[in-house]
Amino acid sequence: MKKMMTLVALSSILLTGCGGKKESTPAADQSNPFFTVWNTPYGVPPFEEIKYEHYLPAFEEGIKRQKEEIDAIVNNPDAPTFENVIEALEYSGELLYNVQAVFFNLMECVNSDEMKEIAEKAIPMVTQHGDDISLNAKLFARIKAVYDQRDQLSLNEEQSRLLEENYKSFVRNGANVPEDLQPRFREINEKLSLLTHKFGENVLTATNNYKLIVEDVNRLVGLTEDQIAAAAEAANRDEATKGKWVFTIHLPSMEPFLQNCKDRELRKELWTAYSTRCTSGDTDNRGIIDEMVNLRLERAKILGFESHASYVLDDCMAKTPEKVNDLLTSIWTPALEKAKQEAKEYQKMINGEGGKFNVEPYDWRYYSEKLRKEKYELDNDVIRQYFSLNGVKNGIFMICEKLYGITFELNKDIPVYTEGVEAFEVKENGKVIAILYMDYHPRASKRSGAWMTNFREQSVSKEGENVIPVVSLVMNFTSPTAEKPSLLNFDETETFFHEFGHGLHSILSNCHYRSLSGTNVSRDFVELPSQIFEHWASDPEVMKMYAKHYKTNEVIPDALIAKLEAAATYGQGFVNTELLAASFLDMDYYTITKPEKITLPDFEDNAMNKIGLIPQIISRYKSTYFQHIFSGGYSSGYYSYTWSAVLDNDAFDAFKEKGVFNKEVATSFRKNILERGNTEDPMELYLKFRGKEPSIEPLLKNRGLK
Ligand SMILES: [Zn+2]
Repeated sequence: MKKMMTLVALSSILLTGCGGKKESTPAADQSNPFFTVWNTPYGVPPFEEIKYEHYLPAFEEGIKRQKEEIDAIVNNPDAPTFENVIEALEYSGELLYNVQAVFFNLMECVNSDEMKEIAEKAIPMVTQHGDDISLNAKLFARIKAVYDQRDQLSLNEEQSRLLEENYKSFVRNGANVPEDLQPRFREINEKLSLLTHKFGENVLTATNNYKLIVEDVNRLVGLTEDQIAAAAEAANRDEATKGKWVFTIHLPSMEPFLQNCKDRELRKELWTAYSTRCTSGDTDNRGIIDEMVNLRLERAKILGFESHASYVLDDCMAKTPEKVNDLLTSIWTPALEKAKQEAKEYQKMINGEGGKFNVEPYDWRYYSEKLRKEKYELDNDVIRQYFSLNGVKNGIFMICEKLYGITFELNKDIPVYTEGVEAFEVKENGKVIAILYMDYHPRASKRSGAWMTNFREQSVSKEGENVIPVVSLVMNFTSPTAEKPSLLNFDETETFFHEFGHGLHSILSNCHYRSLSGTNVSRDFVELPSQIFEHWASDPEVMKMYAKHYKTNEVIPDALIAKLEAAATYGQGFVNTELLAASFLDMDYYTITKPEKITLPDFEDNAMNKIGLIPQIISRYKSTYFQHIFSGGYSSGYYSYTWSAVLDNDAFDAFKEKGVFNKEVATSFRKNILERGNTEDPMELYLKFRGKEPSIEPLLKNRGLK
């Protein structure tokens, strides 16, 4: 997942700002690091110096300064030009950019009550400010004046794109909203940003609050010794559960439990806790969903769109809900067919064991894992031994060097935000071109999942200096134990490659303007660099180069690679079905064209019945914890994983045709995609790389759906 700052996504203007030197005003408190020059290596944030009390004054001052900069643009007596309007706006708001980048990134990975309290004050302030800019009629008039004379200005390609994107973004953010509707429009935005935030907090709280406490170890038959030991360790951390076994609904605890625990009642208990999260009590998200869906519809209507999805997609590569629906349906049919076959196989196993029950969602992973072991003798615990965190990391570095000629050097002098985080210098021809943070393991203060984000994006400053990006990858990989280093299963390995692919999009960015650089592309294009990079994780030739036994250094045996390959298409009916079901659910919420009372679970049940989802499978995310579409930036955008998958499979075919480390193809991918950010229409960029439009066939083939 590529993290999108939700607030910022509302108003991209907030993310634009100066990449140049920090200035301080005499009024600003010099003991607040946000008001001083950061004398750290490469100017990364001085994490140790930043205290809670520094954030709010920095937000306030940052907003004040950008207001002054905007006033100067608006009140400039000179006629509007590209430089005095568009560029001036692009380079405004530097302090606010910095405080937002630090605060919102840390809120996701080192959260605390103090951070939550600050967020509740800062979020409305920032939203209000974003609206003040995007609804500033005088500012928009000057932007429009430049836009209207765009054909007479001799702008280069990137400047034209910046002008167009700014104009469009203002229109999309409500610059053309009639004056009488503006107060309501602002109110909607404020409400949405609070609801968005509350939704995510509820999911985090509900996830952290739940524990499955097992008192009798005999009920844990099927789990490995490591898994049982980890559960005992977790139990011993708390006086109340000492001597027992504790499992949670965090994925690293839940997934192996559901795959292995023979006790059906326990599986059901954990699964029910997971899948009914946030449907009652203090963390109930149902009302929030009803409110958000209707508010988003109302906002889209004000902006002249039929639905929220139409509004969102207008700015994406897919362009319309119809195109999305066509894509989802074309893959849904073969995926569901395959899932039904899988369900039959599991039912056969259950019947064969004399089990007198129908396969239920909490049985699926158990029988799937069992059959996987039977068919491929693939055992995650055997696989893990070849994918140590360090081995995978060094493998990724090696691949990057072969493809793009870049290297990674750990630098312990670069400040990090918490223990265990590593900071690397990324070098090309001896020159540092980026800083990369990696944060590997779960913490209670960290959101679940994995994402890539930036503390600073690549750009050329107002003074003409290249500003190198500061990139961060945040993951939740299996932690090391007293006996073993961190050993990844293959999913985790692919996740690592995935996030690293996003990282490369930012690291290799070679753009002029920050708001167009790196991963600032449409959301159905942003997953191409990440998903294509996963192909190197599973390529047999490449795997032999990096997958080595953590103890003996023995290269992964051919037989195991063959099994991994055969297993790659195993269970794809389920994987695609749950993913597509979530995509359909997302589209159902946001293609409503009239206000309606959203009642759960009815709305969700209807959506699933409509596509004929079988009862043994549920949507990858149920509504009340579907963070992508209610607290992330993916509303009407969950399909983009599939859209990007079409692109990445088709794009990797270009490598396969000439060799996975082919320099010519790699250079073309770098020059046309990774370096270009949003400086040109994504389909145009893709055509330049591939020479033809993407085909759906490689995806169906690679996923075993054809
Ligand atoms: Zn991603």
